[in-house]
Amino acid sequence: MLSEKIRRIEESQTLAISAKAKEMKRQGIDIISLSAGEPDFDTPQHIKEAAEEAIRKGMTKYTKVSGIPELKKAITKKFLDNKIKYSEDEIIVSNGAKQVLYNAMLTLLNKGDEIIIPIPYWVTFIEQAKLADASPVLIETEKFRITADKIEEKINKKTKAILINTPNNPSGYVVEKNDLIKIAELAVQNNLWLIMDEVYEKIIYEQEHFSIASFNDEVKKLTITINAVSKTYSMTGWRIGYAGAQKDVIRAMTNLQSHTTSNPNSIAQYAALAALTGPQEYVDMARKEFWKRRDLIVKRLNEMEDVNCEKPGGAFYVFPDFSLIEESSLKLASQLLEKAKVAIVPGIAFGLEGYLRFSYASSIKDINEAMDRVEKFLRSRK
Ligand code: PLP
Repeated sequence: MLSEKIRRIEESQTLAISAKAKEMKRQGIDIISLSAGEPDFDTPQHIKEAAEEAIRKGMTKYTKVSGIPELKKAITKKFLDNKIKYSEDEIIVSNGAKQVLYNAMLTLLNKGDEIIIPIPYWVTFIEQAKLADASPVLIETEKFRITADKIEEKINKKTKAILINTPNNPSGYVVEKNDLIKIAELAVQNNLWLIMDEVYEKIIYEQEHFSIASFNDEVKKLTITINAVSKTYSMTGWRIGYAGAQKDVIRAMTNLQSHTTSNPNSIAQYAALAALTGPQEYVDMARKEFWKRRDLIVKRLNEMEDVNCEKPGGAFYVFPDFSLIEESSLKLASQLLEKAKVAIVPGIAFGLEGYLRFSYASSIKDINEAMDRVEKFLRSRK
């Protein structure tokens, strides 16, 4: 019999759809996938070369569990751009932001603790909280806006942490500075941990990204600031994420990591070092390209009857409301795949029924073609 813990973890509802999309593609069916959670650009050349050099120089052995000192130093410098001053012993490097997050959850949460998570959420937040034996407490948002008032309503004696992801997956919503200030005050007043997922920070358009830990020392002490090279430098497969937090927390997370995975891949760490310290042209190019695509996809979706799409401030997703067309996002996503040959992710996977997540990490040509197909499908449904 499998453990109770593992049986509590739900299988991703999106798996069935993406498995089906892959199978259809394999059969030669012309599927356009707007379901990707990663940039469609290649990892920049100088980053790949740094990895090759690391191999040639024999940097192929265990490193310090929390990461090579050069990389940690580069991360402290990077955090200065966010106006947060961390020292090197306040940094951990892990196998992607996903492992950083898991380290954080297991380090902070006890059985029965509650962690507040706004809807829509990246599904991993919920499952990791459950793996830590904690209870995710969901809060509703209005037009994806996350406010301190909504969070406050859910605070009780069991509340231990608040998780905020900005820019957000799946909505692309960027939390406004004023809202962050109030959330920071709330966390300090109630002595709550703040787990901040900022992995999409560099994919942002009209707005500015603010790191909550930069506001003052009190809130900084309570915050784990999580980031990664994954989305910023199109390095999703390299598996390097990192966090800044107070020393005791980082030490505990490192201890945990030492017994689970040890250091993240040594070669990938050198690649991440090159990413953070080398030329940044790629980041700007990708941002501008995503910006064009966001404008296109939002326009195309809003031109469709009964579809309502907010214009998100960041990430590479849009999360339009299709509830006037079909309440079940899973049903609609299956129909879109089968009939329109467009693969997307149903909103229910992110806790919001009636919505669909379209990733625009695809070429303008594919986005246009996918929109033509969705439009035709909706017309045929009338
Ligand atoms: N956080 C969010 C909000 C994400 O969307 C993702 C990836 O989809 C991650 C974290 C994971 O990042 P990494 O690939 O660095 O583990």
